Amino acid sequence: MNSGEHADTTGGNGVDGDGLHGDSLHGDGGKKDRLNFVEQEIEKDLQSPKLVGKTFISRFPPEPNGYLHIGHAKSICLNFGLAKSYGGRCNLRFDDTNPSKEEQEYVDSIQNDVRWLGFEWDELHYASDYFEQLYDWAVQLIKAGKAYVCDLTSEQTREYRGTLTVPGKNSPFRDRSVEENLTLFEEMRAGKYPNGARTLRAKIDMAAPNVNLRDPVMYRILHAHHHRTGDKWCIYPMYDWAHGQSDSIETITHSICTLEFEDHRPLYDWFCNELGIYHPRQIEFARLNLSYTVMSKRKLLQLVTEKHVSGWDDPRMPTISGLRRRGYTPESIRLFCEKIGVARFYSTIDMGVLESSVREHLNAVANRVMAVMNPLPITITNYPEDQVELMEAVNNPEDASAGTRQIPFSRNLLIERDDFMENAPKKFFRLTVGAEVRLRYGYIIRCDEVVKNAAGEIVELRCTYDPETRSGAETATATRKVKGTIHWVSAQHAIDAEVRLYDRLCMNENPEDVPAGKTFLDNLNPDNLKVVTAKVEPALKTAKAGDRFQFERTGYFCVDPDTTADKLVFNRTVSLKDSWAKEMSKT
Ligand code: ATP
Ligand code: MG
Repeated sequence: MNSGEHADTTGGNGVDGDGLHGDSLHGDGGKKDRLNFVEQEIEKDLQSPKLVGKTFISRFPPEPNGYLHIGHAKSICLNFGLAKSYGGRCNLRFDDTNPSKEEQEYVDSIQNDVRWLGFEWDELHYASDYFEQLYDWAVQLIKAGKAYVCDLTSEQTREYRGTLTVPGKNSPFRDRSVEENLTLFEEMRAGKYPNGARTLRAKIDMAAPNVNLRDPVMYRILHAHHHRTGDKWCIYPMYDWAHGQSDSIETITHSICTLEFEDHRPLYDWFCNELGIYHPRQIEFARLNLSYTVMSKRKLLQLVTEKHVSGWDDPRMPTISGLRRRGYTPESIRLFCEKIGVARFYSTIDMGVLESSVREHLNAVANRVMAVMNPLPITITNYPEDQVELMEAVNNPEDASAGTRQIPFSRNLLIERDDFMENAPKKFFRLTVGAEVRLRYGYIIRCDEVVKNAAGEIVELRCTYDPETRSGAETATATRKVKGTIHWVSAQHAIDAEVRLYDRLCMNENPEDVPAGKTFLDNLNPDNLKVVTAKVEPALKTAKAGDRFQFERTGYFCVDPDTTADKLVFNRTVSLKDSWAKEMSKT
């Protein structure tokens, strides 16, 4: 398949036109200085007689049983990135061999996420398209005496398999005749037997040191509706039988997968060799593990179904859709994948690396705005009551083309409660009684008086401003230095916004490392979401879902799709500084 499928899938899908696609790795479209180990192997192979003059072809093979997560992004960047740097191709293949867990919703979300990350597959395939061919090949192995129908239950099969130290035992059904096997296999397909009654197994070696070679199951009986093939099949191929053969059909040159499959490689090779078909090379790399989160689809599904989060795209989830809703950009995720590289050994990457990647990109592209999370009213007593001045503010100091905007300044402002302290220590450079501070894009003010309510809580600050210090004005006093600059909004002009302050999903670095009787759910961070009503500058009235901003001095924020005409909702993508790093260095 099929350039047609490819052609009608490119429009309007959010693939950014920056051509970044890992280009920063290969600035001249050529080679990087240092190749990772996968690239070193590929370079050698492409010179070998088998592949010389051939096109490099890889694939990304997700099982459509959940949404993609940041670990998948690593595999996507690797597979599509290699295809790009070797002038080759990369397919998207759904490994849809397990109908009970798979759904069209997942197929759609996976395609959407791959494109959003900035990649486009050359061919779109489904392992289920190969069911007929796989069946024919199974018949071929039966005829060659290399596969047999086995009646052991799954428990018995496990018992007979032995362990790492104890060899397995032959199944009593191992020596069935070819004719009997052919008949039984046909009957399995025809639906004559219930679930689990029989399997088709490869006849290899029950004493093989590699347990995967001890007569692995190729087919199981499963009367289940498949999201694509409907009720056509009631036997389904196992991963090991479907995967390598699908690679072979697509003439994948390099089948790149995660390390758990290293021990399956001999079986991958055995099937291709016994069938005498095109034989791709499998190369394994270490899967991504990230601290403070979980990554297995089973656990992510559990978070969703047990409502610990609002859905697969909850901004606390490590899914691509969750990261997108949180405000991550495709560029930041690709940058992260580039930073962590590809290795042969397991390691856990600190969440801080992902967060610093999004800070890095948003610093370059996000417009700055002012928003006050926890407002404290201030009155500038010497500022005329009905005067409003429009202050010129720079949208993005990193990007002159982002231009400027105007912010209304008036007598009644709101500042962050944290930016005032009544009995401040010496090094407190924000506002305190008798001290001066600059209001960003505004004036220098001095706090003269604190107003409290009956309960002794501060309800207002009374301040005076120095009219000579307007930001940007070309006078000597205007450039007078004060130690602190704080942000603010004009009380009468500011608009309300719901701000969802997201934090890390889990409170421990390794949430799956739990004592007996506990699960990762016991490690969920109880403070991973706080909702506040903030006051934001009026320019944000027109912000649209997905727009990203830096709230000055606070962090990066993204407009949530829950936003409506009369309610603005922001998600905190990440704070400006890494508060977790501080926490850790304290201990
Ligand atoms: P999970 O264990 O989360 O359910 P999976 O391996 O079953 O993941 P698949 O849909 O089979 O998920 O994965 C598709 C591809 O993505 C595979 O090639 C797999 O190796 C790769 N992949 C999955 N998780 C990671 C990860 N954490 N790091 C790197 N690659 C991954
Ligand atoms: Mg898998």
